[in-house]
Amino acid sequence: MKRSIFARIFSSYFLVILLLGVLVLLFTLRTIRNHYIDTLADDLKNLGYAIQLKVMPLYLEGDFDALDSLVKQLGSSINTRITIVDTTGLVWADSEEDPAKMENHKSRPEISKALRGQTGRSMRFSETVKSDMLYIALPLMKNQRVAGVIRLSLFLEDIDRLIGKLRRRIIDISLIVILASMLIAALYARSLTKPIRKLADAARRVAEGDFDVKVILKKGDELNELADSFNFMTDKIKELFINLSHQKKELNSILASLQEGLLVTDESGKILLCNESCKRFAEGDMVQGKFYWEFLRNPKLTELVNQVIEKKKNVTVEVEFGEIVFLCNGTYVEPSREIVLVFHDITEMKNLENIKKDFVVNVSHELRTPLTAVKGFVETLESEVDQEHKRYLEIIKRHTDRLINIVQDLLLLSDLEEHSTKLEKEKLDMLHLIENVLKVFEPQIKEKDLKVGINSKDNIPRILGDPFKLEQMFINLIDNAIKYTQEGAINISLAPQEEDLKIEIEDSGIGIPHEHLNRIFERFYVVDKSRSRSVGGTGLGLSIVKHIVLLHNGEISVESILGKGTKFTIILPIGGEGK
Ligand code: ADP
Repeated sequence: MKRSIFARIFSSYFLVILLLGVLVLLFTLRTIRNHYIDTLADDLKNLGYAIQLKVMPLYLEGDFDALDSLVKQLGSSINTRITIVDTTGLVWADSEEDPAKMENHKSRPEISKALRGQTGRSMRFSETVKSDMLYIALPLMKNQRVAGVIRLSLFLEDIDRLIGKLRRRIIDISLIVILASMLIAALYARSLTKPIRKLADAARRVAEGDFDVKVILKKGDELNELADSFNFMTDKIKELFINLSHQKKELNSILASLQEGLLVTDESGKILLCNESCKRFAEGDMVQGKFYWEFLRNPKLTELVNQVIEKKKNVTVEVEFGEIVFLCNGTYVEPSREIVLVFHDITEMKNLENIKKDFVVNVSHELRTPLTAVKGFVETLESEVDQEHKRYLEIIKRHTDRLINIVQDLLLLSDLEEHSTKLEKEKLDMLHLIENVLKVFEPQIKEKDLKVGINSKDNIPRILGDPFKLEQMFINLIDNAIKYTQEGAINISLAPQEEDLKIEIEDSGIGIPHEHLNRIFERFYVVDKSRSRSVGGTGLGLSIVKHIVLLHNGEISVESILGKGTKFTIILPIGGEGK
């Protein structure tokens, strides 16, 4: 159970007051009773001395009847029991009883003390009168010797009655004091808890969003410092809140004006944020808290999100929603475990690209036939012209060959770029494939006197791939190695690597300057135009190679040292998971 601070302070005070009250009451009553009995005993003693003078003559004369009636008379008038006992303990006179019927009193503690010449005092239950009594016994002295004992006794009942009255009064006063103390304690506890309650109320209001609340306390104690800090804190929070709201508004207007669709989800796919552009191509009313796939139904997008979560890195894919094509980029935000998806509308670009592609394909097709015809005529003419004109024909033939190569490469490239391109896959012995390609290049190798080495382990696994496309890949790479190596060697190595096959084609040729390395796979990119042209290059060879590797779901990389040589490394999955 939650107990308030007020209840705790008040109950502590209550317990302390109650305990003190009870202790004071107990000790006071006991002390008063003892003190009262002491006073009574002193009074009795004095009374005893006074009565002693009266009873002494009769006692000494032995007139015990007269003594008994005197004692009875005195006893009733002073409301005190008087007993006269001789040295043997025999009772000779008693104000309450018949002395003849009373037993020997020698063993009574007060009597035996008085018989020894001292004042005896005792408090006990009297069998004779069946009541608690206070006894004072004084020796009756004759010639300096104890001749008997006079005993005065009082009923303690009377004392207790008196004490009882006193106790009731004390209890009444104590109760009033306790009640008054409790009232003061309650007021004090309230004064202590009031500022705390004020602070708690203010904190609750701040939590509810009211930052204008201020806590003002009267007293200048520690709580006042706390209140000052609280007020300072609310001012700061207000400032921060205003800044944040301002920033949020700014961010919202930026997001709303963004052309790109923006979607932020958590790992389960719940929408945390989406901008207007994103809502435009979503099905239905996209709202926070729902799952993105309820509005953006696309298996490629789901696959992308899964990949982003799994790999925790940036992934980009093309996704289509109706007629619109988007380049969707997914990023994983590590600390908040969120996925940020940005949709760029690339429909226009795609259309243009398609037009461009169609144009290239059409032009290439149109050029192929006339170029082949030109080449044919040139070859026919070669045998019929003189040496002088043969030189010109040579130039025409070289240029025609180059154009034919470009047209062929362009057609091949557009075929590879076609989305519908499917690979005709079969299990392939790569070593065999490379050896066959090398056979094609034997004349050039011989002409340049190049050393070709194949370094292959025995256990090279067969890989699943398209034989024609992979052959084309090796043709282009080996052709380049031969083209750009004047002397030296070409080394080809094959080695399995986990689930993949690693193929390296290394030459000791002219090398590629470092700044060109990351561009050589682009279409028509050549390092040295005149050199490329002189060796019949088109600038499309490596672009074709890269497409073939990607279609097989592989990777290609290049390392080169200028003047020393170049090494192309291809990693192909053995299972050939590509298209
Ligand atoms: P090209 O038909 O001109 O050879 P590629 O696309 O095959 O076109 O190659 C692009 C450029 O990369 C070439 O022009 C050449 O400068 C450079 N290159 C490619 N392979 C090699 C190599 N083995 N050694 C040196 N340079 C190379």
